[in-house]
Amino acid sequence: MACNDKFVMVLETKRNPSIWKHFDLCLMTDNHEMARGKGCGKFMKAAANSTLKLHIDRHCPVTKAKNEKGEGSKTVSSNV
Ligand SMILES: [Zn+2]
Repeated sequence: MACNDKFVMVLETKRNPSIWKHFDLCLMTDNHEMARGKGCGKFMKAAANSTLKLHIDRHCPVTKAKNEKGEGSKTVSSNV
């Protein structure tokens, strides 16, 4: 990955919302687009939805933490 590109702005995207709710589509100085994880802030290629989905499912430390809390937790409060 090129490390010399810098973040310019967040773009709107109409791509798959189940994936992109976890990412911002970012315009970089090189005029290309990158996906940035909303939770973890990691940049990755925006073109590959499969890569992004894999990141959410497997690699993202933020969603991972949420999943681990959600599964089999004994500290779920019932005062909702
Ligand atoms: Zn992430």
